[in-house]
Amino acid sequence: KPLRVAIMGLGSYGTRVAEAIQETKRTKLVGVISGTPSKVEAWKTKYGIPAKNCYNYENFDAIKDNPDIDAVYVITPNGLHKDQVIRVAKAGKHAICEKPMAVNAADGQAMIDACKAAGVHLLIGYRMHFEANTLEVIKMRKAGEFGTPLFFQGLSGFIIGDPSQWRLQKSLSGGGAMMDIGIYSINGARYMLGEDPIWVTAQETKNNPEKFKEGIDETIQFQMGFPSGAVASCLSTYSMNNLDRFFLNGTKGWAEMQPSTGYGPIKGKTNQGPLDKPHTTHQAVQMDEMAAIIFDGKKPEVPVNGEEGVKDMKIIDAIFKAVKTGEKVTLKLA
Ligand code: NAD
Repeated sequence: KPLRVAIMGLGSYGTRVAEAIQETKRTKLVGVISGTPSKVEAWKTKYGIPAKNCYNYENFDAIKDNPDIDAVYVITPNGLHKDQVIRVAKAGKHAICEKPMAVNAADGQAMIDACKAAGVHLLIGYRMHFEANTLEVIKMRKAGEFGTPLFFQGLSGFIIGDPSQWRLQKSLSGGGAMMDIGIYSINGARYMLGEDPIWVTAQETKNNPEKFKEGIDETIQFQMGFPSGAVASCLSTYSMNNLDRFFLNGTKGWAEMQPSTGYGPIKGKTNQGPLDKPHTTHQAVQMDEMAAIIFDGKKPEVPVNGEEGVKDMKIIDAIFKAVKTGEKVTLKLA
């Protein structure tokens, strides 16, 4: 039996996920939640979705009475995730939620609590956690191929277009580049080094305050310190393209990936040679692995649960605090 999924939010990424689901072995797109009737009609035809599995943002709590939907994948603006995931949990369905899971750690924790109380899974759309070349670097690091990892560099950015989009509105986005793309460097530092940071420092640059209003970060450089003594140095920006690069360096070797988190193919090399695992659609692998987590209790190499999401939210909260105060902010993620 496949994991029967309804997608909430039929925007650009929701569309990508819907296409990817068609490639999966263990998941099926069976429903939609959307505020736009014309999109619902188009998706019904394209994917053979029955009318009884179509909902809008007002009435989707009724999914609780629909035995034909197992999980809802929330792919809406960040600021809406918390309430929507809590409603999905209360409807008794598993929640898959896009990154960033919320706009701060407290909201993320409320989502975990709601899913626990309802006895449903909460999984975050961290597609890189299942990507073959990424997993290869993690395997090599665990095997000691790089010696003791001491440094990670993460560069994450792109030039954002239309100034009226939700990504540049604080109430819907929760922040600027950091919430959207900087989170990849944060998360990447953690899985590449295999540790959680204990402090952050951060500095913000805003060259275009017209476009990047109060609460919307344009460019932030940040540093993280780890219990082993390793450090990370990262850049998050909405004002430069061609920033999708990870570099991990240890006492015996190194790995670099560029692109490191784009939709792929992910490319890179290590001191031992090229990273050449074949490309597969990230979202398709992610969905099949999520079916295995839900149905088989599979434990992924790098977690994608709510707790993993909250760790990144705590780091983002700390980065914003460090920007504001100019001080080093200590962290306790365990
Ligand atoms: P998008 O703007 O293309 O789509 C958002 C959808 O939400 C639209 O269909 C829109 O109609 C709907 N929506 C519902 N309520 C809304 C409201 N009040 N205001 C605005 N839109 C509303 O955005 P997207 O790029 O699809 O991003 C959606 C989510 O997916 C975000 O959380 C984003 O961070 C995440 N995302 C993840 C990845 C990834 O690789 N994992 C990639 C892109 C986006």
